[in-house]
Amino acid sequence: MKVLLSEEEIPKKWYNILPDLPESLPPPLDKDGNPVKKEDLEVVFAKELIRQEMSDERWIRIPEEVREVYRLWRPTPLFRAVRLERYLKTPARIYYKFESISPAGSHKPNTAVAQAYYNMKEGIERLTTETGAGQWGSALAFGCSMFNLDATIYMVKVSYMQKPFRRILMELWGAEVYPSPSEKTEFGRKILEKDPENPGSLGIAISEAIEDAVTHENTKYTLGSVLNHVLLHQTIIGLEARRQFEEIDDYPDLIVGCIGGGSSFSGLFWPFYYDRVHRNVNVEFLAVEPTACPSVTKGVYTYDHGDTARMTPLLKMHTLGHDFIPPPIHAGGLRYHGMAPTLCLLVKKGIVNARAYNQVEVFDAASIFAKTEGHIPAPEPAHAIKAVIDEAIKCRENGEEKSILFLLCGHGHFDMKAYQDYLEGKLLPYEYPSEEVERSIRRLKELYPWIEF
Ligand SMILES: *Cc1c(COP(=O)(O)O)cnc(C)c1O
Repeated sequence: MKVLLSEEEIPKKWYNILPDLPESLPPPLDKDGNPVKKEDLEVVFAKELIRQEMSDERWIRIPEEVREVYRLWRPTPLFRAVRLERYLKTPARIYYKFESISPAGSHKPNTAVAQAYYNMKEGIERLTTETGAGQWGSALAFGCSMFNLDATIYMVKVSYMQKPFRRILMELWGAEVYPSPSEKTEFGRKILEKDPENPGSLGIAISEAIEDAVTHENTKYTLGSVLNHVLLHQTIIGLEARRQFEEIDDYPDLIVGCIGGGSSFSGLFWPFYYDRVHRNVNVEFLAVEPTACPSVTKGVYTYDHGDTARMTPLLKMHTLGHDFIPPPIHAGGLRYHGMAPTLCLLVKKGIVNARAYNQVEVFDAASIFAKTEGHIPAPEPAHAIKAVIDEAIKCRENGEEKSILFLLCGHGHFDMKAYQDYLEGKLLPYEYPSEEVERSIRRLKELYPWIEF
């Protein structure tokens, strides 16, 4: 039913995909189109993280102190979804790697712990970040508590008011949590002056967190997805999974994951991509996103900012436009306009496929999974589950005995309001909001006439 590894088998190195990409990654650019200098990034992020961001070393050593913290919940199990297979009457073998058992309940502590560690080593005393519903904020609060760093989290104000549980979790781990826009930063004060009732947004919260970091001594900012070093830390997932498959003498034909910024899915599939490049294995990759925020399936592959306030460098990625505001789907972690540049390049090259589902069909899939496998998925990985169920049904129809692996990247215990809406039939599907996307892409073109589309 499940494959377990011993603590000694926790990988000792992360896998960096950069040297194995089919072509080199387009560099981050500033607003005039010049490549961003390393020194400019070092004001915001720890030096070692910038080094990893640009490293062409294929294997990067995991510090013993980080492995030590990983041991609190790692290695995570690889499950065979036997009951789901039976329910679907499929000849496919379905496996899932289970990241829900981390203290914060998702994959995000894999990088939060590493980022807190490197900052601590460089003498940083406090980290800042933004959080929407609270997944990343709670992971960072936990990571900071492991290395005695202070954490300041700017939480989007509507979520702060409506979703108190993750805020309490952050406070329990010792973090300071502010509803954003806040009185703590100049940017926040400016917004509140104009509009005291402003509900906040991730873009505003990012701007506040960066401003706080660059205007204070021994303080740095952190990000929970999208950037290369974040995805690198997540490869602990795929490296363990690959070892677990060795143990049962199987190998995945298809690997599936949901994508918000692309970190959890990349962490799962990169080590198998390594096998594809260096060992010539046959394995397919499928990324799944919501129809409400279809960055990869409907977005444009071009340069855009990572945040709404245009504080970050321009990254080459699939984007819906930095001021596109996605409909309020329950999978908060997938409501992001952009995507990890590495993932986008692999999509462009036809190495990773992508597909979108609406949230009603996604919750139907989550409900089947909960009834068969017992574990309650977060709304984000439920997108992957929907795709896996569809693929397993195809296998039944074609008599194919495929081996399918997906990532259960978080539990849904804090998402009971979403499940309540689902059970009461109140969920809206939210299909592709094409007009809003076209509008925000048009604005991007007007802002940067020099960008190629
Ligand atoms: C943050 C989050 C996501 C989306 O981020 P990725 O970088 O794409 O992994 C997905 N699922 C969960 C449970 C999350 O917390």
